[in-house]
Amino acid sequence: MHESCGIFGVYAPGLDTARLVFFALFALQHRGQECAGIAVSDGTDVHLRADPGLVAQVFTEGDLAGLQGHAAIGHTCYSTCNSRRPATPQPILERNGPWSAAVAHNGNITNSASLREALESSGHQFRSDSDAEIIAKLIVTSHGTTWKEKVSSALRRLQGAYSITVLTPDMLIAARDPMGVRPLSLGSLDGGFVAASETCALDHIGATYLRDVQPGEAVFITNEISSVQQERNGRRAFCIFEHIYFARPDSTVEGRLVYEARLAMGAKLAEEHPVDADLVLGVPDSATAAAIGYSRASGIPYREGLLKNRYVGRTFIAPDQRLRDLGVQLKFNPLASLIKGQRLIVVDDSIVRGTTTPRVVNLLRQAGAREVHLRICAPPLRHPCALGVDMASEWELIAARKSVPEIQEYLGVDSLGYSSVTGLIDAVALPRELLCLACFDGDYPLPVQMGLTSLTTGSEVK
Ligand code: SF4
Repeated sequence: MHESCGIFGVYAPGLDTARLVFFALFALQHRGQECAGIAVSDGTDVHLRADPGLVAQVFTEGDLAGLQGHAAIGHTCYSTCNSRRPATPQPILERNGPWSAAVAHNGNITNSASLREALESSGHQFRSDSDAEIIAKLIVTSHGTTWKEKVSSALRRLQGAYSITVLTPDMLIAARDPMGVRPLSLGSLDGGFVAASETCALDHIGATYLRDVQPGEAVFITNEISSVQQERNGRRAFCIFEHIYFARPDSTVEGRLVYEARLAMGAKLAEEHPVDADLVLGVPDSATAAAIGYSRASGIPYREGLLKNRYVGRTFIAPDQRLRDLGVQLKFNPLASLIKGQRLIVVDDSIVRGTTTPRVVNLLRQAGAREVHLRICAPPLRHPCALGVDMASEWELIAARKSVPEIQEYLGVDSLGYSSVTGLIDAVALPRELLCLACFDGDYPLPVQMGLTSLTTGSEVK
């Protein structure tokens, strides 16, 4: 499963803000590996560098030295080798007379078509299909004589999921949609302030976590902080896949350390789907903590029987069909001496199309596994996402087409156990009414025209 985007922002006069963003983007690299970008404000104007590639590939020392200013924002977006279009590098910078703003966005604007049409009919031309460009154009063209008025007016027109950072010549803004679909945290740093998709980015640059940006809140940051709260008429809908897969285990998301949530997911799986076996393995990295949780709860030893090559980026695999077919072998290597003759419990985060899992199972069988019992942290995925995660079309979701016994047979495993929805909610330890669970139960938090395709941009699910 692939992630949506990572966003970051810093307002810290006197500090090397571009370099802080650069290091923070490294911490958020797991949320996006196709493009990276940084925009910096020097007090009078906003300057931008954004290109396709990993963070380390996009920025040279010279780039960072040339990006000087008291505030900056950054963005990483995911490598989408199966996506229909290449992602657009962000931040996106827009100008309208005296108003200039750069926007970094994580999410999916569900009324983007009508907003784009309205902007086009008032003479604005688009250079990408990115939601960030729509948001940036809305902000610089909205009514108002202050950034607070313009941003608030623009945000009221957006529907769907968005966590954004906005950089103007004199201000950093961090905002979240009223449903609170994607995370966004605030921190302090040497008298300045930062905003990040995940708290792990705050840790890496020595910032102190202050609080989460609230759903529907826009935080305006200069030397001090003020905020505007949008009316919240609809329900909350925090994406539970942040805890299952997207966020790093060392991030605290909605008040819950992701590592602990995943340990609890594994323990729940052991309770709901016990089986007699010799070893517990996790599919690295996202299921490692859940496998440890399963092991602790069941008393069956945990072993690192499947090693991951973390340096095989999807961008390298994508252009060549033969290499794409080899993708799983390039990425995972089983420890045959440990696995041979053993009855394995293999814990994974989710099964989407069911194309990757049989290859992993096959690798374990080839390494001599006697039995493979698969345990999955996410309940069966039966509905595509409408809020920014590309699960392709409903007919491609294996659990939308097959029953659990049929999936077990298709995957070639000795047993298959999915977490229940209630078990997963217990593990995450958040009230059900705060969560989006639509890909399991089809109960979308906003009216969407799903058809049979997902309404997504820039993110993808395995
Ligand atoms: S539908 Fe699923 S993936 Fe999409 S936001 Fe909701 S929980 Fe997350």
